[in-house]
Amino acid sequence: MTLIVEKYGGTSVGSVERINAVAQNVANSVKSGDRLVVVVSAMSGETNRLIGLAKEVCEQPCPREMDVLTSTGEQVTIALLSLALQQIGISACSYTGYQIPIRTDSVHGKARIEHIDADRVHADLDNGNVVVVAGFQGISEENKITTLGRGGSDTTAVAMAVALHADECRIFTDVDGVYTADPRMVMDARRLESITFEEILELSGAGAKVIQIRAVEFAGKYNVPLRVLSSFEPGPGTLITYEDKNMEQPLISGITVVENEAKITVRGVPDKPGIAYSILGPISAADINVDMIVQNIGTDGLTDFTFTINQEDLQKSMDLLEPVVKELKAETVVGDTNLAKISAVGVGMRSHAGIATAMFRALSEKGINIQMISTSEIKISVTIDKEYTELAVRTLHKAFGLEQIGANR
Ligand code: ASP
Ligand code: MG
Repeated sequence: MTLIVEKYGGTSVGSVERINAVAQNVANSVKSGDRLVVVVSAMSGETNRLIGLAKEVCEQPCPREMDVLTSTGEQVTIALLSLALQQIGISACSYTGYQIPIRTDSVHGKARIEHIDADRVHADLDNGNVVVVAGFQGISEENKITTLGRGGSDTTAVAMAVALHADECRIFTDVDGVYTADPRMVMDARRLESITFEEILELSGAGAKVIQIRAVEFAGKYNVPLRVLSSFEPGPGTLITYEDKNMEQPLISGITVVENEAKITVRGVPDKPGIAYSILGPISAADINVDMIVQNIGTDGLTDFTFTINQEDLQKSMDLLEPVVKELKAETVVGDTNLAKISAVGVGMRSHAGIATAMFRALSEKGINIQMISTSEIKISVTIDKEYTELAVRTLHKAFGLEQIGANR
């Protein structure tokens, strides 16, 4: 018998009607003969509401009590879903994280799962039950309630799938799969039938948000097939799996956009050893993530040094650089938020030359100026003027023939 872990996010269990619809969905899987473990999030908005309440009571709530508080959202939905299942004749029972138990480290608010004891769940499944598990929560060695970080129910689902040796982990959400581009930007964006763990990680890092990155890493590490699908419309969704070497891969699987990056340029820096370190040292010491880095070849002993960071970190970074600029005797430092990073991602890139050239050609034909370029084995990213974001995404989507791959919506 096939064992499936299904996970439903906040919007999927956002109201009593929706919980009933989820119960129906689960019932269909049960009737098709699968054994089922269902992981749920809190009702949408609930976790935020709880955090808001705590902030009304005190400015800096202690992390231990925050976890006691925020974990309650999922306790509500597991009970309601179990009741809804029972109501339509499906035996079901619910478990909080500590009842299972899902053992985590003791880092409140972003705990990591260390061990799951699957015995009770197996016993319930053997007795013909659907087992409903609270996402996002666990228990530390000192028996304190912990939570796994925002969006953590995805991780719970994957971890349950690993612990139970499930055949597939299905993440039901409000989109019906992973797309070749954001369908709001590109009309003929296509749903991908499958995508590799590597690609989805690059896509997530490059701006596509369908599933928590940590959950994908976890699934990739233990080779659990993951499927992203809609809880509102029937359909096969997108399977996230290992690369199938026998299958012809499309060159590019998706085009994504990041719009919340800022660019800092230090102009007229004396070109000598140690510049990169002097400039980026204080930035990384302040725990600010640097994304792209470009240093031009110097002329007349001077060079420009440019890098990108999250927009939120712009002011702090500029402040940190002020003394550095003085010490290096650089001309100026300028910050710019008017940029977008566009990335093309695909494992097919590995075996094909000329993808970058094709990308640059397509952009140049539309008169879009590329400011910076960075590449990995399966990703090419460029930054451009924000104004051209949609044009660039549509242009690249077309240039790589993405409207012809994947499935119709
Ligand atoms: N309820 C938690 C949150 O809102 C966990 C989750 O939804 O996955 O972050
Ligand atoms: Mg959520």
